[in-house]
This record gives sequence, C-alpha cells and structure tokens, in this order.
Amino acid sequence: MTLVLVTGGCGFIGSNLIHYLLEVEPDIHILNFDALTYAGNLANLADVERHPRYQFLRGDITQREQVWEAMRRGVTDIFHLAAESHVDRSILDASPFVRTNVLGTQVLLDAARAFAIRRFVHVSTDEVYGSLGPTGAFTEESPLQPNSPYAASKAAADLLVRAYHHTFGVPAIITRCSNNYGPYQFPEKIIPLFITNLLRDEPVPVYGDGLQVRDWIHVRDHCRGLHRAWKHGQVGEVYNFGGRCELTNLELTRRILQALGKPESLIRFVPDRPGHDRRYALDCTKAERTLGWSPQIPFDDGLAQTIRWYSDHAEWVAAVRNQDYMNYYQRQYGTQ
Ligand code: NAD
Repeated sequence: MTLVLVTGGCGFIGSNLIHYLLEVEPDIHILNFDALTYAGNLANLADVERHPRYQFLRGDITQREQVWEAMRRGVTDIFHLAAESHVDRSILDASPFVRTNVLGTQVLLDAARAFAIRRFVHVSTDEVYGSLGPTGAFTEESPLQPNSPYAASKAAADLLVRAYHHTFGVPAIITRCSNNYGPYQFPEKIIPLFITNLLRDEPVPVYGDGLQVRDWIHVRDHCRGLHRAWKHGQVGEVYNFGGRCELTNLELTRRILQALGKPESLIRFVPDRPGHDRRYALDCTKAERTLGWSPQIPFDDGLAQTIRWYSDHAEWVAAVRNQDYMNYYQRQYGTQ
C-alpha cells in the first residue's frame, strides 16, 4: 500500500495537493500531518474528511515523537509542505521560520531515513535564488542567494535535503515554484488579500512603487508538477515550476480591480517591505523536458475562477478574517 504523508496539508497548497492526489491517484492513501497554526484550516478539507483514503493527524514537524507516531502508521512517501510561509511575518519575527522550516525539515529527513521512505518531495520556492535584474531567469543551477528570513530558512532546508540525499541516500527531490494563487489561500498573500478587500469595497495596500515583478502560477498547475516530480523525477534532482506569467504588482492589482469591476481609486500605496526583492523569474525547461510538465491554466481564467471561489465562500472568508487576522492586518498596513 502507498501511504503518502503530506505535511502542512491544511494550508493553501497542501489542501489543494490532497484534493488533487485523491482525484488522480485512485489507489494511494493520504495522511495529512499538520500543526494547525494560524495558516492551517481544517475547513479546507471538510469535503474529504470522511474519504476512505484520507486521514488527519494533528502534529508538529519539530516534535520527533509526533512525527514518529505518524510514520508508524505505515508511511511510504512524503510530500513536505509544512512551513511558515509568509515573508512579512518573517520580517516581524524570524524564530518560528527557523524552527519549523529548518529544524522541522531536519526531523522529517531523520524520519525519512529511519523509516526507509521511497520518495521525499521537498516543496520549496523560487525565493531561495534571491532577486533578478530586468532580464534573465533562474535555473536549477543558479546560486542560492536568499534575501528575506523566510527565503533563508527555505534555502537552509533545501541544503539539508541535499545533504541528506548525498550523505545518507535519502531519496529526495526538491521542487522550487513561483508565486501560487487559487482557492483556499490565506488572505495575507496579495491575491486573496486584494480580492477579499475589494469584495467589501475596501482599499488594497500596494508596497512601494508596485513595480516588483512576480511570476504567477495556478496552484493546480503546481500540484500537477509535484505529482509528476514524485512519479517521474530523479532523486537528488531539483525542478523549477513557474507559470510563464510575469506581472508587476501594480499590473496584477489592476487586473484584479478590472476583473471585479472596481475603481483604481481603491489602490493605497504603503511603505515598501524592507529588502523587497525586485524580480523573480524561473526557467522551467528542465521540468518541461524531463517531466513532460508545463503550466496549463491561463492567468486570466485562473484569476476569474479564484475570484468566483472567494465570492462563493463568504463563510470561509469570514472565519479566516478573525480578530487575530485583523490585528495582524492593522500592524502591517495601519488603518485604512
Ligand atoms: P501555508 O502557510 O498556507 O500553509 C502552511 C501549513 O503548514 C499550514 O497548514 C500550517 O498549519 C502548517 N504548519 C506550519 N508549521 C507547522 C509545523 N511546525 N508542523 C506541522 N505543520 C505546520 O503555506 P502554503 O502557501 O500552502 O505553502 C506550502 C509550502 O509551499 C511551503 O513550504 C512554502 O514554502 C512552499 N511554497 C509556497 C508558495 C506560495 O506561493 N504559496 C510558492 C512556492 C513554494
């Protein structure tokens, strides 16, 4: 039997990945292991709660006994997504980032060794490569030059994964993806933040001059890539996944305003994030050639679908925009 441990399965990408795997892999079983931090939400998986091939165990990847308890259920493969994932929060306090992203990854790698895991897919980010000028794109060989505490903690995790593969033969694959968007994303990230504000006719905070460039990929395209890497990837290799959709934050904001029929007067420029990376772009030739993967969802279609999802899930949004969220929002952007 294949029992896949998905760490961080109650988060944005993790919950999308669990839905995707249950849909495309009729024989695998899934164990979702998640600490339920502010970003973890059981409601993301309410529809599969009683699925015969799905189980959930609340646990923290930094706690060895809790990880071992999960592994003893017969785990054969791991998709590792659990992380502190928000750059702005890493600037406020880097400690949970180092704890979960670095120490937690080490504990999981030890578990992968101890339980002779078949495949360990480590889900990382393009942010480990640092920032680009106006041209060019990062390949898997580009040096790791992380600039934020979040990116540094992910790069440290990537290096541990590399070292455990090299030293102990842990059958690990590293994936690095650009900015994801889609359903179930916590509204601290730009796209759901802007959609949920605009649905209430509230202004949207744009950092600095808004000319920072990001590459956008629909979360389902990322999940297809993770699945391909798990099935067809070579252990010890790194694969980049990008959406072939570079936009400045200002262009992105205008597309969201337009899709929702809202005026540009709702744009509120706020002081820039310290150390804000200017541009990320990924060369995904390797994944295209060796995994037969390419992004399928055009950005405007994906955005329209995402907007529909947030407008159709008002209860989900209301529960997530709780007092803790509002406190964080006030601290980050001030009053509106
Ligand atoms: P998220 O913040 O939405 O979810 C993270 C999940 O991890 C939450 O469910 C949380 O409860 C859980 N978690 C946190 N600390 C934990 C711990 N100590 N033990 C167990 N569970 C814990 O994040 P996301 O956007 O879904 O990102 C998932 C992964 O993908 C992360 O590793 C992130 O670095 C990576 N990634 C994200 C993006 C993106 O655009 N969101 C892009 C590339 C890579």
